[in-house]
Amino acid sequence: MTVAEAACAVLPAAAPSKADQKRKLPLLPVAALLKQQQTLTAVERFAKLHESPDAPLHEKYYRDLIPLERPKPGEQYAFEVDLDLCTGCKACVAGCHAQNGLDEDEIWRTVGLLHGGSANAPAQQTVTTSCHHCLEPACMHGCPTKAYEKDPITGIVRHLDDQCFGCQYCTLMCPYDAPKYSKSRGIVRKCDMCSGRLAHGEAPACVEACPNGAIAIKVVERAEVVEASNARQFLPGAPSPDHTLPSTRYKSNKVMPANMLPADFYVTRPEHSHPPLVVMLTLTQLSVGAFGLTLAAERLSPATLGSPLAQTVFACAIAVLALGASVFHLGRPLLAWRAVLGLRTSWLSREALVFGLFAQLAVLYGALTAMPLLPPFPFDSLLAGFAPSIRAAAALAGVLGVFCSVMVYVVTRREQWSAAQTVVKFFGTTLLLGAASVLVVTAFTGSSAGFGSLAVKALIFTILAATFVKLAVEGRTLLMARDLRQTALKRMAVVMLGELRAATVVRFALAIAGGLLLPGLWAYGSVRPADPRLFTVTVLLLLAGSEFLERYLFFRAAPASHMPGGLK
Ligand code: SF4
Repeated sequence: MTVAEAACAVLPAAAPSKADQKRKLPLLPVAALLKQQQTLTAVERFAKLHESPDAPLHEKYYRDLIPLERPKPGEQYAFEVDLDLCTGCKACVAGCHAQNGLDEDEIWRTVGLLHGGSANAPAQQTVTTSCHHCLEPACMHGCPTKAYEKDPITGIVRHLDDQCFGCQYCTLMCPYDAPKYSKSRGIVRKCDMCSGRLAHGEAPACVEACPNGAIAIKVVERAEVVEASNARQFLPGAPSPDHTLPSTRYKSNKVMPANMLPADFYVTRPEHSHPPLVVMLTLTQLSVGAFGLTLAAERLSPATLGSPLAQTVFACAIAVLALGASVFHLGRPLLAWRAVLGLRTSWLSREALVFGLFAQLAVLYGALTAMPLLPPFPFDSLLAGFAPSIRAAAALAGVLGVFCSVMVYVVTRREQWSAAQTVVKFFGTTLLLGAASVLVVTAFTGSSAGFGSLAVKALIFTILAATFVKLAVEGRTLLMARDLRQTALKRMAVVMLGELRAATVVRFALAIAGGLLLPGLWAYGSVRPADPRLFTVTVLLLLAGSEFLERYLFFRAAPASHMPGGLK
């Protein structure tokens, strides 16, 4: 008698599934045995802990902390943290670090601290946290290279290291600060719930390392996660779960005081400045503004803006420079071509595609504008006929590109990068730097008579208005430093007036000088510049300096949301 036959003789037949009943098919003996094994009694589960000599050495410590079954449809794996058992010893952090071979400064699991209560009844709670393997992973949706995947069966969100080109956008998208950039590798990496170990019935490193069994892997119903997230049930002091639907469950038998706050709640630090992005964003906006405003101003008073070819060449050169600068932001620049793979979900992919299109159309229009300088060739007049359409398409692509840039930051849901703030900043830069650039090229290639034209007056007014609106919005943000609530905008204001005070002061000084005083005196005062070239270049340099600083502050003074920290 075989082992399977013997088992079938001893074991009662398992109840057939609904599907089998429907089809009226009897279960095979092996299938019946497998089914029976999936519904072990408590005694059998206990016996199983001791019966297999081939089981991993430490299995007896974690067997109950990982599921016996794979998730069924509508379910997925999730971390479950028993807060009552977490002592904050960081064994989980060390276990994760060692098991995954992380770099010295790389951390995928952290331990933070919540505290609150009253003087008579103070309360504190340590919290272990890692990637939450969300149902709607913002990291995955934002990735321009499709370097993330959510396993359809286990629900584990895995980062595909070989597909990553190190743009770090996922680190801005994740509200829980889970993906980490490895500078030495030039890519982002993150927790994958030790999926390889789980697949072989072994516990993730953190689960195995915790001496108190505070971390477990459970199978959860996705519908329950959605329900809990929509009801904003997650963890006090953590970012709201209704955006990404994190699957981690934090449980406790204690009733936490309502005023529990992360220990680092009042700590605000400047973030990374992302210099290549500062250059890329500022220069793409300058280029789009120069190209579009030349087109618009020409409608007001044709032939007063100097050489159309020079205006186009200037805008194209800046666009190429800006797109070149963006590559320096990548940890693996040779994979820059992958930037458009995530078009379906990623605004970063859309931004890369649309700005690429803008640059190509603008260069094409420049080439068509240069045709009269060349000897006649076949179809030259036909090609010239397309120039106005190509020009309009380039201007439209440019504006769309700036819109994509806005969306890249708006979808991160950081309050400092709200639609209102980002639209004013990005389109404001487009207008004021674009207008200043057109004036410079006009000064160098046009006649002095052109400076009295309606088009030039409109450009000066554009600089004045855009600078005024931008400074008003930023000034209003600075006033938030007085807010009694610790809002995101207050954090931004505190950083701008604290550690970044010098940059803030210089930004405002340059903008007032280049965007309000000089153009204001020129347009509405009695002062007339003796040398329009020197004057316009001065205005452009002052404004470019102030806009680079504005964008530097845009990144540095936007403290990211994260899980409770503060335990050093
Ligand atoms: Fe992605 Fe962050 Fe959710 Fe993890 S916690 S799945 S990194 S969004």
